Amino acid sequence: MLVFKSVNELKQFLFQNKHKTIGFVPTMGALHQGHLSLINQSKNKAELTICSIFVNPIQFNKPEDLENYPRTIERDIQLLEDVACDVLFLPSVNEMYPTKQYKNYDFGTLATVMEGEHRPGHFNGVANVIERFFDIIQPTYAFFGEKDFQQLAIVKDLTKQLGLSTEIIGCPILRENNGLAMSSRNERLTAEERNRAAIIYRSLIQIKNNQKTSTIEQAKKMFKTAVEQEKMNLEYIEFADGTTLQPIKEWNETNYCVAFVTVIIGKVRLIDNLTIYSNVTSTP
Ligand code: AMP
Repeated sequence: MLVFKSVNELKQFLFQNKHKTIGFVPTMGALHQGHLSLINQSKNKAELTICSIFVNPIQFNKPEDLENYPRTIERDIQLLEDVACDVLFLPSVNEMYPTKQYKNYDFGTLATVMEGEHRPGHFNGVANVIERFFDIIQPTYAFFGEKDFQQLAIVKDLTKQLGLSTEIIGCPILRENNGLAMSSRNERLTAEERNRAAIIYRSLIQIKNNQKTSTIEQAKKMFKTAVEQEKMNLEYIEFADGTTLQPIKEWNETNYCVAFVTVIIGKVRLIDNLTIYSNVTSTP
């Protein structure tokens, strides 16, 4: 695997390989099987796979979250070697933002709900870094996990707004054996906390299975009680249309409903989502 830390060196390499299709997988490191599944999808589709590891400071709305974000670069490089990733791009903050000038984007109501509401400025930071990466790499395909469902919708919208030809490909959520969605932040959980956090997925599945017999209000209450019983705090649970991401109050308001949750366990913030029902053929 080739490792580039400088934008110019990466660009030179890309110029020499300009006839190849490029698959791009942006990450913030502390890699796990969820990330590696994106790399594998890219390897199946593109001639050249580039993974980036960059902990993007401007998408963190809390300094302590940025400070505590897990960093395991040696292990990450080994994992990427093991899956035969072609290129790792490992830029510094200065390489990414030499002018420190950031753009302001308008994603309308896509960015005013859920993560957008609870993490002010987060998606603007994500959009800045993705635009910069896409400008440097000009990928044919870019792979994003449905774990960050709202981010995936924002990146699709960004690509459309910028008129880019990069195809955005959403990839399914990988989970631990107990159902907990894989996440770099899980590194900060004890084994006991990981066990307790399994209730998140179990409760979402229960909601999905009982959806015909309970109201949205009842489903929200059930979820809150279940996570609190496991000594976790519910930041939010929302049921929303999977395309517009606008919250609904009654099941019949959409034919494509996704549950979005954020739960706090200790000092760690975990997000997850599950499609409750979908009568549409293509998902965002
Ligand atoms: P992150 O390093 O957390 O910024 O994630 C980098 C990419 O990996 C994003 O597109 C995430 O949605 C994706 N990702 C993170 N966790 C998972 C998972 N459990 N399953 C699938 N994709 C994931």
